[in-house]
Amino acid sequence: MLSFKNVSVVYEKGEAPALNNINLEIKPEEFVCVLGRSGAGKSTFIRTVNGLQTPTDGRVTVLGNELNCLKEKRLRKLRSEIGMIFQHFHLIPRMSVEQNVYTGRFGQRPVWKNMLGLFSEEEKRLTDSYLREVGLYEFRGRRVERLSGGQKQRVGIARAMVQEPSILLGDEPVASLDPTTSDHIFQLLKSLHLKRKLTTVINVHDIELAEKFATRIIGLQNGEIVFNGTPSEMTKTD
Ligand code: ADP
Ligand code: ADP
Repeated sequence: MLSFKNVSVVYEKGEAPALNNINLEIKPEEFVCVLGRSGAGKSTFIRTVNGLQTPTDGRVTVLGNELNCLKEKRLRKLRSEIGMIFQHFHLIPRMSVEQNVYTGRFGQRPVWKNMLGLFSEEEKRLTDSYLREVGLYEFRGRRVERLSGGQKQRVGIARAMVQEPSILLGDEPVASLDPTTSDHIFQLLKSLHLKRKLTTVINVHDIELAEKFATRIIGLQNGEIVFNGTPSEMTKTD
């Protein structure tokens, strides 16, 4: 599904690498939490998976495609297989919940359809069904700026899901939320994962969330993997 071979990312020549010779495989149906302090390289890791960051060295393979070799068009196609959620949600504030979710389909549609705001019945059905699944169907007409943080992230999740991705990536999606809301968001992510066998890779800095929800934890420190195993293995080794 996802593989890293000797991958390094160096932002500035002479500075310590943000990722240092990472070797890793993630299989379909895993729910991986990438754990590490601020600056550990988590965000760089996620951006390297979806091709937003090109590795300085090494090979990244996603769904059988080696990223370095992809032309822009193929890369766009591959990205539509990858859903993304973010710490600060990246929603469009003055648009409604429903409109924000629609934008998840933009990458897969002709530009003119997006400009005219034309959506097929199938796309509307998909949007409604994900709005129900994240618990926001009743809020579909509300502007997203009037939602709580937890609700905003639910919109972000629905927007990622309407692409019907096979991989879901999260860059600290609960870092701005309180512990109870964070737990609810992880429950939702876990249920989407289980229902669709969605490969899920989420950055967190909260060890308890990782232990509770992940099938595998990858610990990063200074751009290196310092732990790679199940939550129970982590408890044993400390
Ligand atoms: P994390 O997500 O774990 O906080 P990052 O991947 O954001 O870690 O950062 C890893 C290292 O790379 C840090 O030292 C950070 O300062 C550096 N870094 C991240 N993004 C950039 C960038 N665009 N330009 C230069 N350095 C960066
Ligand atoms: P917050 O605490 O910021 O409201 P939550 O993530 O706890 O964020 O909940 C967001 C919204 O989703 C709330 O309006 C809540 O009523 C609704 N909600 C929470 N859990 C579920 C669920 N399992 N199914 C449907 N709707 C839910």
